[in-house]
Amino acid sequence: MGKFFKLLYRSKKSHARVGEIKTSHGIIKTPAFVAVGTKGTIKTTFPFLLNQIKTQAAFVNTYHLVSHPGADLIQKAGGIHQWAKLNLPLMSDSGGFQVFSLASTKQRFTAKADLSENNDARHRVFSTASPGRLSQKQVFLHGQNKIRKADIRGEEEPLVIKISDDGVRFRSTYDGQLIEFTPEKSMEHQIKIGADIMMAFDECTYYPAQYKYARKAMERTHEWLKRCIKYFNNRLATPVLDSFTKVTKASSAKPPVGAALPLKQKQQFLYGIIQGATFEDLRKESAKFVVSQNTDGVAIGGVSVGESKKEMRDQVDWVADYLPADRPVHLLGVGQFDDILDLVGYGIDTFDCVEPTRLARMGRLYQISSFNFLNSHQVSNFKKTISRQVDIFKNRYKHDLSPVDENCYCYVCQNFSKSYLHHLFKQKEILAYNLATYHNLLVMERFFDIIRELIINNKI
Ligand SMILES: [Zn+2]
Repeated sequence: MGKFFKLLYRSKKSHARVGEIKTSHGIIKTPAFVAVGTKGTIKTTFPFLLNQIKTQAAFVNTYHLVSHPGADLIQKAGGIHQWAKLNLPLMSDSGGFQVFSLASTKQRFTAKADLSENNDARHRVFSTASPGRLSQKQVFLHGQNKIRKADIRGEEEPLVIKISDDGVRFRSTYDGQLIEFTPEKSMEHQIKIGADIMMAFDECTYYPAQYKYARKAMERTHEWLKRCIKYFNNRLATPVLDSFTKVTKASSAKPPVGAALPLKQKQQFLYGIIQGATFEDLRKESAKFVVSQNTDGVAIGGVSVGESKKEMRDQVDWVADYLPADRPVHLLGVGQFDDILDLVGYGIDTFDCVEPTRLARMGRLYQISSFNFLNSHQVSNFKKTISRQVDIFKNRYKHDLSPVDENCYCYVCQNFSKSYLHHLFKQKEILAYNLATYHNLLVMERFFDIIRELIINNKI
């Protein structure tokens, strides 16, 4: 299949670079935006439209897909590309973010955990919900009523039952079923889901985390990474035993279009995740360790979990010198224009975030400035205008017959006025969310086109 990552240009001004990630479902030109399709769908959007928008890649969440409908079913259906008809490179997360970061929100606000003791404070907090004392239904209702709330990423919190060095056990927010994630199980789930790029199982720290806990979580993440690599490599070395291979061997039938090929052909790639919270020494230690491991790429996790923008930049800045030159680097959960503009300068290749799609569903549409930035402006000027948004609910748009963005070539801006979109949103018409998502995702692609051009011109 050729090399997974190809570095094409390195900026003379920063660590920023332009490259290509090659997967069996397409090439990602980097830096690139990875749209979030948590439950196997980019909300409101027909999959074929993603190809029209030229969305380069999408992200699916292992925790959600394992909770419902289960990884076995997705594998049986030929993998997530085939099942969801997502014909583009896909990434899956490890499940760690939802399980740890969201669950810990409850701990911080309800238990004020004492992290000075040796015991894992979060274990004590959640041990009150031990299945031994509460029925499954009680635990589920407890989770639904007391814990179900959105974090900044708008996700529902699972009810964690037990965290240990081996992994974590929790109740699904969907139906209360007991689910266990260990490094090996996270790998197996992700292999079955079949995304092109998988994340190693990590412990995502909450914000603000105390040093002692952040160190423990980082060390655990490193141990888990070694186990993930071992499991993944063993799977690569093992004859493929999935049902699809059995069928094809027996009948010589051609695989269904888009079906996952046997894993042995290395069509899935593994990233290790750097953790360390907001502590410089931990971030550097983690970067050195993760980069030293035999993975296909590296991700930076535990950012954009409530810290300031300066802290977010610091966390990436601290590790920039350690990031690999020959492997791609993903930043988990960051997607605001100004953040991306700054953070590509540290050598980040891909970013995933719910921001453009969530804002779209809230009636907030991006408006990119029209000026020819490369000839006449500096990056700082670009930043001032790049993040303009139209709040389409405002009454002033009721009679505005101009498009959302005069300079946007997307289907929405070429065909519809602000007035029509305002009407659709006010009337809660389903088309409103689809059109807004289309436009915002396309703007992200336009934005990354500009980013790549800026890097090639050494402006970033
Ligand atoms: Zn548009």
